[in-house]
Amino acid sequence: MAQQTMRGMRLGTQSLESEAGVVLAERNNFSYRCANGHETAMVFAAEAEVPQSWQCKICGAQALLREGEGVVVLDDSDEKTARTHWEMLLERRSIEELDEILQERLDDIRGRREAAKASN
Ligand SMILES: [Zn+2]
Repeated sequence: MAQQTMRGMRLGTQSLESEAGVVLAERNNFSYRCANGHETAMVFAAEAEVPQSWQCKICGAQALLREGEGVVVLDDSDEKTARTHWEMLLERRSIEELDEILQERLDDIRGRREAAKASN
């Protein structure tokens, strides 16, 4: 994303200024490997935050950033995205509370069913 913006900016400056005035941003090459063994090469600016995973260009599967001989281990510490709804719910409610809420809901549903039956 940042790469495309920079490319666009360079096109503009190149037409107006000499090559000497253009400072090329430092780039680094990165390689991603998917579960099927495909390699996806990406170039990111040196100061860019390099994503740990990328979509495989060949099969579309998740490809992981290569690190030495292997690939990175995905960092799941970003809890905002890693947490499930259930886990978030548990942070706010204890199992006992959830039990109580469930019981209330069930009673409510039963009550409404009874009411529906009675009106038929
Ligand atoms: Zn692939």
